Amino acid sequence: MLDSVYKKLQILGPSAKYDTCGPKEGIDQKIPGVYFAKTGNGYCRLFKVLQTNSCIKHCRYCVNQACMNTPRVVLSPDDMARTFMELIGKRLVDGLFLSSGILGNSQTAMSKILETATIIRQRYHYHGYIHLKIMPGVTDIYLEEALKLSNRVSLNLEAPNSERLKEISPDKNYENEVLKTVIRLNTIRQKYNLKYKRNISQTTQFVVGATRDSDAEILDTMQLLYRQLKLTRIFYSSFSPVSGSPLQDVTASTTKRGHRLYQADFLLRFYGFQKNDIVLGKNKMLSLQKDPKLAFAESHPELYPIEINTSPRNNLLKIPGIGPDNVDKIIQRRIKYGKINSHFELKKMGISIRRASQFITVNGKYEAQLNLF
Ligand code: SF4
Repeated sequence: MLDSVYKKLQILGPSAKYDTCGPKEGIDQKIPGVYFAKTGNGYCRLFKVLQTNSCIKHCRYCVNQACMNTPRVVLSPDDMARTFMELIGKRLVDGLFLSSGILGNSQTAMSKILETATIIRQRYHYHGYIHLKIMPGVTDIYLEEALKLSNRVSLNLEAPNSERLKEISPDKNYENEVLKTVIRLNTIRQKYNLKYKRNISQTTQFVVGATRDSDAEILDTMQLLYRQLKLTRIFYSSFSPVSGSPLQDVTASTTKRGHRLYQADFLLRFYGFQKNDIVLGKNKMLSLQKDPKLAFAESHPELYPIEINTSPRNNLLKIPGIGPDNVDKIIQRRIKYGKINSHFELKKMGISIRRASQFITVNGKYEAQLNLF
């Protein structure tokens, strides 16, 4: 890698850290721009980098906003593509996540991202994972091109509604610029996936806690994005103040809050919960002390205990300590052996009896009070 490229990556790699790849992300300290992200099959290493950290926008939480006094660099599409392929050749990364500040306007920034991805696909014949960031407000032709080149696309809403976005990104328009592009991208993506039998996913991200945003507001938008738009995934980036930015004196959001939002998100995506099932305090926030599934169970005593041997899947999913994989195991065992005989049998299947026992019966037996094991 050229010295000049390495120096730019020392700025462009860390600048990309605000685009999260999930709750359990890490940074490779040796190579700027290399991050670890948790996937369904373990960890993968992504080259997560910005094409440029120059930006005309004034997102008040962002290290790259126009008013920050920070060195600005641009990596050309040729240099970016070559650098990525070098890392792939040395088996140092498994894929690319390419984003950018908005230098000029959204279309110009998007063009550079697309140029890089085109070089990687066409000149270097790379067929692996590419995640492209979509710039808000770009026309359909850019969206179609991005879908042709990528495995995942994302456009960050950053906030749950226009009022909150105005507080943190005063020069972005929530409805007309950001949300509309998310919806257009989603429509084109679904048609594209159907037509070409592809499975390109679409994600978005919220910055949590930079304003007085409530979890209720986030849940409203979460439900819309998952139920109506069928978005693949939402990420929650806990706000952390950047020194020298207009929000430098705002208190950082706790990682616990982000963790609870991820738990509520999982309940909506995998457990059949609706946003109204999620228990909120008077302050419209999730409890930091209690996970949202336990809070639901404790506020609905009429639904428990749930009988392990006869309850349908959607009821089993309401038991604290039992996730979708374990529910499937329970159902398979019921089919194979007729029934589950004891709490001990559940424990052997990997189920946390400590958390589940007070909410279940097994063959009509309720054993929450016993010291079972
Ligand atoms: S558009 Fe906003 S969030 Fe994105 S790089 Fe520019 S200032 Fe940062």
